[in-house]
Amino acid sequence: MFVVLLGPPGAGKGTQAQRIAAATSLLHISTGDMFRENVKNETALGQLAKTYMDRGDLVPDEVTIEMLLERIGRADAAAGAMFDGFPRNVVQARALDQALAARGARIDHALLISVSDQELIARLGGRWICRSCGALYHERNDPPTKADSCDRCGGPLYQRDDDRPEVVRTRLEKQKPPADLIAHYRAAGVLNEIDGEQPLGVVTAALLEAIR
Ligand code: ADP
Ligand code: ADP
Ligand code: ZN
Repeated sequence: MFVVLLGPPGAGKGTQAQRIAAATSLLHISTGDMFRENVKNETALGQLAKTYMDRGDLVPDEVTIEMLLERIGRADAAAGAMFDGFPRNVVQARALDQALAARGARIDHALLISVSDQELIARLGGRWICRSCGALYHERNDPPTKADSCDRCGGPLYQRDDDRPEVVRTRLEKQKPPADLIAHYRAAGVLNEIDGEQPLGVVTAALLEAIR
């Protein structure tokens, strides 16, 4: 089964993908996490991606698609995956469709998580991430038991540079799922829209219900 999670920055895609992966053992593929890993390791791809990420812009399609196609070509993605943060536009969606079609697969579910701008700003401003395992927290909505350290692995928590208000503004302008991307999955008959302003567990249950 292949699933895409769609939604604006801060909608809860990463948090829900981690929960769904834990509940279903569906492989979680996050292009944002892959780019951040490359930035951390100072690869050529990371250096290039960073110039876009720092501004709140999308990394060019060519680079992003190549990275994603390489990822889904690995053995652990043979039976399925859940994409978080990809595709961001129709060009990326078509590239993914084509790659899946070539192996007799398709996107089975596109789950659109909707959240208002005001709530997105509050979520991104209070987001904390584990440096070691990538677990997501929110200082008010989903705080760690011990401030500054991860419940899951004890690792240190950090805030993303691009969660600063100036960059968030650009991301909310440029990175909401465009109407033609949503239309692409609606036309394929796989779109499901979920109210992402509900409590975390309620959203998780709705998403699991949609892919069951
Ligand atoms: P968020 O989950 O907060 O929306 P991500 O972690 O998905 O952000 O992405 C962080 C950054 O990585 C984006 O601002 C963008 O620069 C880059 N990025 C991630 N996925 C893509 C993609 N599919 N296409 C282009 N750029 C991407
Ligand atoms: P995305 O991957 O879509 O950018 P995240 O999963 O990183 O979003 O979530 C952004 C922030 O909002 C995190 O700090 C997370 O803890 C918080 N959050 C996610 N879903 C909810 C929710 N349903 N209610 C309250 N806070 C949430
Ligand atoms: Zn951790």
